[in-house]
Amino acid sequence: MSIDVRTPAERDAILADPGFGRHVTDHMVVADWSSTGGWTVPRVTPYGPLTLQPSAAVLHYSQEIFEGLKAYRHADGGIHLFRPERNARRFAASARMLALPELAEQDFLDAVAALLRADHAWVPDGTGERSLYLRPFTVATEPFLGVRAAAEATFAVIGGPAGAYFPGGVTGIGLWVSTEHSRAAPGGTGAAKCGGNYAAGLAAQAEAKARGCDQVLFLDATEHRWLEEAGTMNVVVVTADGTLATPPLGTILDGVTRHSVLTLAPEHGLVPVERPIAIDEVLRGCADGSVTEVFAVGTAAVVTPVTSLVHAGVTTTVGDGAPGPHALAIREHLTDIQYGRAADVHGWMRRV
Ligand code: PMP
Repeated sequence: MSIDVRTPAERDAILADPGFGRHVTDHMVVADWSSTGGWTVPRVTPYGPLTLQPSAAVLHYSQEIFEGLKAYRHADGGIHLFRPERNARRFAASARMLALPELAEQDFLDAVAALLRADHAWVPDGTGERSLYLRPFTVATEPFLGVRAAAEATFAVIGGPAGAYFPGGVTGIGLWVSTEHSRAAPGGTGAAKCGGNYAAGLAAQAEAKARGCDQVLFLDATEHRWLEEAGTMNVVVVTADGTLATPPLGTILDGVTRHSVLTLAPEHGLVPVERPIAIDEVLRGCADGSVTEVFAVGTAAVVTPVTSLVHAGVTTTVGDGAPGPHALAIREHLTDIQYGRAADVHGWMRRV
């Protein structure tokens, strides 16, 4: 299905209440790769279907990677990206892990900027924390059923407007701690942003929902003891001694928000620490008060307070069950930087 180009009035109606993931903009950027010819020059085209052979490798072996980042409109009308170089670098790292062709980081940034230029009218104004979500991805297109790295691939960038994640104000979520499902094993693809990781997490996510929780919190695959990450967010634990701890990199995604929160922590009186965090330590800490806050961090929801954890059928309340002060303050700090309301002292914003 190709989409009809919408009138300005139709676009404005969508931008007034975009939701998330429901609407796409009018254009996309596409480049093709072959092992013999390398990358074509990325082209801006109307948004529409990609043509794939049924034997295209991605449809069988999930040889696919993607990224997610947002463009924010500031009060002066300018459009800004938040640390897009980190997405470009992570995309290249994901490509290496999935045996897909690497796109030069500058080419990634140029492709994102090209889509934003074509569809600048689709970037909502910043009221109500709306933004334009951008989705670069590469898929293996070679029509070949043997199992090996494909010799043909397509890179594309699409985008769509995103509304406020918490339209009624920031609320806490409940996480279901999975003791049976694992997201990633040592030596696996946990650090890659590849579709297969998400497909493999969907059953656990459905189980979390069935148990009344919002998301699943994965533990390590070996001991089922150490915190890894939530389905689409990294996790952070704040303790009464003033540390902001998060699990170390390795089998988890190197989140842009995670890195930013670690950087901002000292400005909130917290000492940032990357260390293994045991689930029993967190549950005990919630009970004895040594763990004061848990929150999940990622591009979509920025900072999401976690107010309850369900583990082995037992529900543990975090803090007093309401969003914690550090989660709310760090969330506001980050969004103020992203929307240009606070000085960008770390040099994170890139005007397009
Ligand atoms: N972990 C997973 C599994 C994710 O999908 C995401 C979202 N990209 C994150 C963490 C957070 O990463 P970021 O802050 O870069 O959005």
